[in-house]
Amino acid sequence: MLFTDLGLSEPILRAIAEEGYTSPTPIQAKSIPAVLQGGDLLAAAQTGTGKTAGFTLPILQRLSSTKASAGKRVLRVLILTPTRELAAQVQESVETYGKYTGLKSTVIFGGVGANPQIKAIASGLDILVATPGRLLDLMSQKCVSLNHIEILVLDEADRMLDMGFLRDIKKILAALPKQRQNLLFSATFSTEIKALADGLLNSPALIEV
Ligand code: AMP
Repeated sequence: MLFTDLGLSEPILRAIAEEGYTSPTPIQAKSIPAVLQGGDLLAAAQTGTGKTAGFTLPILQRLSSTKASAGKRVLRVLILTPTRELAAQVQESVETYGKYTGLKSTVIFGGVGANPQIKAIASGLDILVATPGRLLDLMSQKCVSLNHIEILVLDEADRMLDMGFLRDIKKILAALPKQRQNLLFSATFSTEIKALADGLLNSPALIEV
């Protein structure tokens, strides 16, 4: 299979080609069509499988093919990750694959000053990559609005629970619009992850690689 068989638009295919990718990895071959269909997704995937592009590419495609309801740039996608390193890495992928789409993203995480992050959010974004603690912090300061989120990604959800983020995640979920697409990626499936998935996902497509 080739990337050109997956229904991705030219600006995204051009960015992928520049990265030297020709064929989707197994998880990408399954997750890209599933996410493009608009339903929820539960994916068992380790790092190194290409899972980041597996959710980033179809998200970029969905955002570029549908206008935000408000007409101006609003935050439409929230990607939560357990660590700042992963958050930074995911946002770098969003930038790389999205560089010809005109979509804007930033990353926020704790341990560094919040002001540059607050400014980046205020400048107008389509996609926010965040760790839960800093996101809640900026939400409580009213620096970020999640009212227009259409797609939520929980990346490495098992690690987020291991790190004690369940309460934070629940608070964030409560601030999101009810009507949205949810994508959950996890390397392992404990009882806790299953409970989280049960509460979060609506008849998800299941992907295992
Ligand atoms: P991930 O599992 O998302 O952390 O990705 C692992 C690595 O695989 C990253 O360095 C990507 O740049 C690379 N990668 C992702 N998808 C592909 C692909 N379809 N072809 C070649 N390399 C890829």
